[in-house]
Amino acid sequence: MNDKIELLRKLIDESNNIVFFGGAGVSTESGIPDFRSKDGFYNQQYKYPPEMILSHSFFMNNTDEFYRFYKAKMNCLNYEPNITHFKLAEMENRGKIEAVVTQNIDELHQKAGSKKVYELHGSVLRNFCMKCGKSYTAEGVFASEGVPKCECGGIIKPDVVLYEESLDDSVVTGAISAIANAEMLIVGGTSLTVYPASGLINYFRGKKLVLINRDQTSYDYRADLVINDSLGNVFRQI
Ligand SMILES: [Zn+2]
Repeated sequence: MNDKIELLRKLIDESNNIVFFGGAGVSTESGIPDFRSKDGFYNQQYKYPPEMILSHSFFMNNTDEFYRFYKAKMNCLNYEPNITHFKLAEMENRGKIEAVVTQNIDELHQKAGSKKVYELHGSVLRNFCMKCGKSYTAEGVFASEGVPKCECGGIIKPDVVLYEESLDDSVVTGAISAIANAEMLIVGGTSLTVYPASGLINYFRGKKLVLINRDQTSYDYRADLVINDSLGNVFRQI
């Protein structure tokens, strides 16, 4: 394992244009549950599976039930960044990291100090009225009774990409361009089975692909370095 950390350090030292692509595993180490994992949100007190509740049609047709789940399960306001978030922010500061591409919606990268973050799935911290576009804080949304409403009467919707919704074009374009131009790509905390992770890393043309994940992934064979460990353990050492 130490040889691998040594190699990772060397690869980072030699690169100045690194992109980090992070999945749910980055946030779970801050204590935020991954609703897709077995010990996540399943087997709980909801009549529908999380993927159904967090879909566009469910939001439109069962807004009450959506918000009951959302407020109970998606409130990430009281979580703090972990060592991985802080190291990445520090590496961006030193000119090593060009951008972070994340599937997480908690803004913990920004909270740690990262500036260039492509949020593929949006952010819980931004909320807009569906009728007039007025923006609202997450604190207000989570504290509201029932369905949060704008002063104009419209329903407030979190700026989170729900199932059945497409990703924001400008975010995807930015993420693809960062990945396509990167010298080194570090992929962490994702099994690379969930769209769009698998598709996006195919744009990488650089020489150094590093995968850090607790379990093996189907992309391991393509990587120059695979570390099967928690992100925290790895980032603590680099
Ligand atoms: Zn409004």
